[in-house]
Amino acid sequence: MSSTADPDSPSAGVFIGGELRSGSGALQHIMEPATGEQLVAMRLASVDDVDAAVAAARGALEGRWGRTGAVDRSRLLHALASAIDDDAAGLANLESRNVGKPISAVEGEVKAAAATLRYFASVAASVEGRANPIGGSLLSYTLREPVGVCGQIVPWNYPLTMAAAKLAPALAAGCAVVLKPDVATPLSALRLGELAHAVGFPAGVVNVVPGDGANIGAHLVAHPDVDKVSFTGSTATGVEVMRSAAGTIKRVSLELGGKSPGIVFGDADLEEAVPASVWSIYSAAGQSCEARSRIFVQRAVHDAFVERFVERAGRMRVGDPLDPETEIGSLISRQHRERVHGFVESAQAEGAHVHCGGTVPSGAGAFYEPTVIADPDHALSVEQDEVFGPVATIIPFDDEADVLRMANDVRYGLMATVWTGNPARGPRMASRLKAGTVGVNMPYTSFPGVPFGGYKQSGFGREFALATLDDYVETKSVILWTGSRSASPINA
Ligand code: NAD
Repeated sequence: MSSTADPDSPSAGVFIGGELRSGSGALQHIMEPATGEQLVAMRLASVDDVDAAVAAARGALEGRWGRTGAVDRSRLLHALASAIDDDAAGLANLESRNVGKPISAVEGEVKAAAATLRYFASVAASVEGRANPIGGSLLSYTLREPVGVCGQIVPWNYPLTMAAAKLAPALAAGCAVVLKPDVATPLSALRLGELAHAVGFPAGVVNVVPGDGANIGAHLVAHPDVDKVSFTGSTATGVEVMRSAAGTIKRVSLELGGKSPGIVFGDADLEEAVPASVWSIYSAAGQSCEARSRIFVQRAVHDAFVERFVERAGRMRVGDPLDPETEIGSLISRQHRERVHGFVESAQAEGAHVHCGGTVPSGAGAFYEPTVIADPDHALSVEQDEVFGPVATIIPFDDEADVLRMANDVRYGLMATVWTGNPARGPRMASRLKAGTVGVNMPYTSFPGVPFGGYKQSGFGREFALATLDDYVETKSVILWTGSRSASPINA
């Protein structure tokens, strides 16, 4: 990979029709957020490149890929997972430098990407039709056919795992893909495209067109020859995507923002709940859709919880993402850090107390200390809007009804975690929380095979699971007359 900014020799910035080449769009300086230095300059996709990628995907569907059976699709997905394992160290280094996240976390993400591909490799052959009961001389069956060309758009916070989560079900179902990574973080997705081609996916099955959202993303969503759009990103952009996709009645799935609660009851084991709650907000420096950023603690243990939480947050190791001991890396950019800090300043101006963090460090990069805000008013922006940074709020509550009222009183509904020692309380709370996933005494959020997605304005559709395949197939009914021609209903 070239690290030059010379516009005459930029690195290849698109992967189309099995070829990694320079795009014909804007020259983009791909940055390393932790140092503020340029990693590489590359020419990304133009709208013409998007058109070429869609045409390549359509060509693949009409060619050999369209005739490739589920068992072979499964074999290729397994091979792609193994190729990721083989390239794990390189991918983790690339992703850590490009996103600013700690290498230890990114190593786990690379493994998760391979696991997602393996899960969908294992279920590819489960896409099957059925015989329909109509009887007499009629035979009917359903075919489950790939939905076609899929436009898949992912954000910058988990570029590789999100790309794998999009590609895997689409390829398992037999679709062809045009993947659009974020303009700031295209490197691992381009590598994924190359690996897919190297393990034997035919040219055109996986295309990668990095570029900005307003032009390249919007062009992909509106494209008349794209059959389905799967989008992960902010709720505001999700509104645009849904509106634009309506013009051609595209199939749409949306994985959007979150403002998830972590709920700690007085009977919880604080030895577990404190470090897990710290991890649930500060991993990925809070730049995570499922960040449990609103922590509610029952009054009896509130002060003890806050004391331990602040102590643990205050000694987190913030720094060089490539240091294996680092727990919090850099935010994605200084511009994003300003936005995060703005939420903290505005909460302070409204009278909220900042226990720790809350200041912008000097020096290179876009680092931000883990921040804890005590008991802000529930109506404040820091409580209602997605901060997407290492900022936790901690609010006391009285009982189940009290915390359910506050926890559900946001426009999002992605995730919730409940900490309790009462075995009956976990399932009871799970049934009343408006969230796509509820963890009970367990902070982790996504596993291959477990549906992941949102209620309310966190979107619709589910990823990582068998149900995801339904989003990538059409159901076709076939009806055959099997009796004698003279007795056929059209001669009656
Ligand atoms: P964003 O919506 O600004 O961008 C996401 C992607 O959409 C990028 O690739 C961007 O280029 C593209 N895009 C922007 N405008 C577009 C348009 N008009 N048409 C088509 N594409 C467009 O989001 P972001 O700030 O980059 O990412 C963070 C957001 O993603 C947060 O809200 C986070 O919660 C959400 N997210 C959700 C999940 C989930 O599974 N629910 C996972 C990760 C991130």
